[in-house]
Amino acid sequence: MRVTLIAGARPNFIKIAPIIHAIKANNSTKMNYRLVHTGQHFDEKMSHTFFKQLNIPEPDINLSCGGGSQAEQTAAIMIAFEKELLANPTDLVLVVGDVTSTMACSIVAKKLKIKVAHVEAGIRSYDMSMPEEINRLVTDSITDYFFTTTVWASENLKKAGIAENKIFFVGNVMIDTLLSKRNQFVRPSFWNDLNLKTKKYFVLTLHRPANVDDINNLVKLLNEITNNVYSLPVLFPIHPRTAKVLKESGFSNVNLHIIEPLGYLEFNYLVENALCVITDSGGITEETTVMGIPCMTLRDNTERPETIDLGTNELLGTNPKAIKPALEILFNGKWKKGSIPEKWDGKAAERIVTVLEKMANNL
Ligand code: UDP
Repeated sequence: MRVTLIAGARPNFIKIAPIIHAIKANNSTKMNYRLVHTGQHFDEKMSHTFFKQLNIPEPDINLSCGGGSQAEQTAAIMIAFEKELLANPTDLVLVVGDVTSTMACSIVAKKLKIKVAHVEAGIRSYDMSMPEEINRLVTDSITDYFFTTTVWASENLKKAGIAENKIFFVGNVMIDTLLSKRNQFVRPSFWNDLNLKTKKYFVLTLHRPANVDDINNLVKLLNEITNNVYSLPVLFPIHPRTAKVLKESGFSNVNLHIIEPLGYLEFNYLVENALCVITDSGGITEETTVMGIPCMTLRDNTERPETIDLGTNELLGTNPKAIKPALEILFNGKWKKGSIPEKWDGKAAERIVTVLEKMANNL
């Protein structure tokens, strides 16, 4: 069975890495893979570093579809990926997550009558203003094999009429990467320069359009955070989308350290040793849950409710007023402890490959 794996953006690289390692470890003579990088994220800091740090082999092809509007990028990926599939026929296209590449490549595969597998299927924010939710819905509406991170995600798919034998609750590949790399995290080079001390700083990441596209809104959030952290440093590895907006605002604050996006090993070193993470990322709420680090999410909803019901995450919403009371709870030592969701045990990719192997044997 020929499997074409798709990776396009930062969170994809972290999810695809363990799947590739598990395919290699499985060593089946009946299965081989081809890795397609769509080029959605393309620079050293958002792409290359992850290939190096996570031992992902060089992609077989890079479609170089970076930049552009949502529609331009979707169209560019679809055109390039159709050519790729015609030149390199495959039996299964495996997509991960919820980025533009996930949706664009699934559509192309399905229209060429190729089966589609979706890793991280079934999660829902029910917020149609998020491009990611549209990507999830479109992808899951044409997926053939659904790999889920939680029972809740599987239930969502069943409710949508998906046959049970197409749904595989395997766990979380992002956590596979976290657990396999946890003993290799790297203290960032600026640790001493900034005089950082374990549990005495915050990590902040923001990149959702609802938080960062409006300068005034972004500045209000940053003000509210930096004014209520009792002068502890706030480390802000800045996403390219946010950097563009923040540059225009000229915002600065002595507590806020704006830094380039970090490599995976440096970023998660910072997270593991932080007092708390403030974020609007989805993946980071999963990682903080597993590492037991308090996490505040600046969103009105989440497609990962398990990080709140079981984990260390709380949804604060997008109103800056919610930040101060949450920080008070944290500083009073009253943040919840949390536990780890079922099957987030580092073996999700292995389970996925076992399913793929069965498919290969039945071809
Ligand atoms: N991440 C990283 N460096 C950074 C910020 C994030 O390595 O400077 C990692 C983080 O550990 C997580 C992933 O990137 O695995 C999350 O990506 P992002 O927030 O872009 O996507 P989302 O999870 O919101 O889809």
